[in-house]
Amino acid sequence: MNKSKGINTICTHVGELEDKEFKGAVSPLYMSTSYAFEDVETKRYPRYFNTPNQVALAKKMAALEHGEASLIFGSGMAAVSTSLMAFLRAGEHVVFQDSLYGGTSNLATEEFDKFGIEYTFAKDAQAESLNDEIKENTKVIYIETPSNPLLGITDLEAVAKLAKEYEVVSMIDNTFASPVNQNPIDFGIDVVIHSATKYMGGHSDILAGTVISSEENIERIFQMAKNFGGSLSDYTVWLLERSIKTMGIRVKAQNENAMKLAEFLNSHPEVSRVYYPGLKNHPNHELATRQMKGFGGMLSFELNEKIDASAFMKALQLIKPSMSLAGVESTILLPSKTSHGLLSEEGRIKQGIKDNLLRFSVGIEEVEDLIEDLKQAIDRTK
Ligand SMILES: *Cc1c(COP(=O)(O)O)cnc(C)c1O
Repeated sequence: MNKSKGINTICTHVGELEDKEFKGAVSPLYMSTSYAFEDVETKRYPRYFNTPNQVALAKKMAALEHGEASLIFGSGMAAVSTSLMAFLRAGEHVVFQDSLYGGTSNLATEEFDKFGIEYTFAKDAQAESLNDEIKENTKVIYIETPSNPLLGITDLEAVAKLAKEYEVVSMIDNTFASPVNQNPIDFGIDVVIHSATKYMGGHSDILAGTVISSEENIERIFQMAKNFGGSLSDYTVWLLERSIKTMGIRVKAQNENAMKLAEFLNSHPEVSRVYYPGLKNHPNHELATRQMKGFGGMLSFELNEKIDASAFMKALQLIKPSMSLAGVESTILLPSKTSHGLLSEEGRIKQGIKDNLLRFSVGIEEVEDLIEDLKQAIDRTK
């Protein structure tokens, strides 16, 4: 039933709680942490992911990603760490693509040794490179597409095929695309993770995460999740449900703005390179067209060497510097100094992150105003 509905209908209606008492238009909020005891199996408790608001929002998440079931977490990293740990034990191995979200690579490099979990970062994000790193004890292949900050695209179908061939679980961090632009389960990927802090929340005021998969996989992740204790407060669950109602129209507006801004930057003489999967000159443009419904609101670009990127950022008036992304407001950052600042210079060069690379999270403002802001900042700093 959910699958046949369009994205905006799912965003608005699936997983609503009916206000039976007053017939209000929005879902009632149930903040109880204590419910009448019925029997051991059905006891409700927020850390068991089974309060009315948690269950309702999980239905919306599952519908959005064409999965069977879902869990809502207190952060994107809670969703990432719990999902990975649910499928890995001591002596087992996970293959990551390169260019992962910093928090995810830190999880592996700083924590996995303690649990005896082995990991390898493939040399890039191509299915063949992931294939090269698969070992006897590999249990999970983990990807992120489009990637941060260079918007690289990984072939979902090829990765799903690889995972089936080796009987391992395929996982994706689908945060950058959002469920509006990409539904990896349709291509055979097993487990889909989002930092709901980003496009799902969309207003830079919610920290949350989610994982969507089959009933069986979600049950397995749940068994770990209730022990790790990373569930989301019902109040924030309620806010997140409200935010998702407008996710379809927000993200489509961001897609449109990003396309126009990518074209503007691409033709600007003071811009040396633009990374956006919607541009024909993007190395994976065709692949992106095959597996994405929209190219997303994230893009990156490099200014000509003589422009100081920090000065350019300071000269912007409308577009604000910010670490996070995916809000309705446009924001920009210098990955070399922020999100990827902990990497060595060598590490950054290896990932293709130049010192003057700017990552742009495109908002829903009028695109003419955004173009004007970029233009005046370039003119003042060139
Ligand atoms: C922000 C982000 C995360 C982590 O999410 P939190 O909600 O900050 O814990 C994971 N993956 C990607 C791609 C992100 O952008």
